[in-house]
Amino acid sequence: MIDTHCHLDVPRFDADRSDVLTRAWAAGVTGLVIPAIGPTAWEALLGWPQRDPRVQVGLGIHPQLLPSLPADQDERHLALLDSMLAKGGAIAVGECGLDGPSEAGAPIERQLRILHEHFELAHRYKLPLLVHCYRAHPHLQRYLKEHPIPEAGLLMHSYSGSADLTGFYVKAGCHFSFAGPVSFPEARRPLEALKKIPLERLMGETDAPDQAPHPHRGERSEPAWLPLILDSMGTYLGVELRERTTQNARRFFRCGFGVA
Ligand SMILES: [Zn+2]
Repeated sequence: MIDTHCHLDVPRFDADRSDVLTRAWAAGVTGLVIPAIGPTAWEALLGWPQRDPRVQVGLGIHPQLLPSLPADQDERHLALLDSMLAKGGAIAVGECGLDGPSEAGAPIERQLRILHEHFELAHRYKLPLLVHCYRAHPHLQRYLKEHPIPEAGLLMHSYSGSADLTGFYVKAGCHFSFAGPVSFPEARRPLEALKKIPLERLMGETDAPDQAPHPHRGERSEPAWLPLILDSMGTYLGVELRERTTQNARRFFRCGFGVA
């Protein structure tokens, strides 16, 4: 299984990162994707796949980080991102996207400008895009009506849109990854969305350290819990999803996990 989105580089894993990885491999996870949150993470992340090819990385600027990054540094950061991607070694552009609650510190115009640059970089380097969209769907929809998704694809991470919205994103060609909330006993919305998605566009993620699945809700999430997420999706749909989502992830991240 491949955890398509986990932040194992953050300080919450400093004390026991290698134990977390050991538990993931023991649970049947064979690969994972760490999407960078911002510029200070890029250099260190690029070294990780060289040490262990089961760990692959994306490079980008998370919209929730923007309020703490000075806007007058955006151009410099984006130029740096371009040069880091040019080195090779990243299998995706992201994490990037739009975040409603962050609008107070980073106006949506700035968020859209930076998202647009990530689209351009994904086109330029022929890499898939890892997109966060939380309480900002009307803006993303408007953007996608005018800009095609990168040819290598776009993954809506921790997808939380309604069933209606899902039809739009499916038509736009997006892939979808679900995190812990899909496994909560009272889950409704993610399950309604799940039914609308072609099986070959589905993936799973732990979004560690956040969004731990049932029965670990509220704890620090970790990749070893990916099977709980995939199995709750599979049970709901009545299909086998461990193998299928692994194949989907291998195809989507086609330069990672030993697949040329
Ligand atoms: Zn994330």
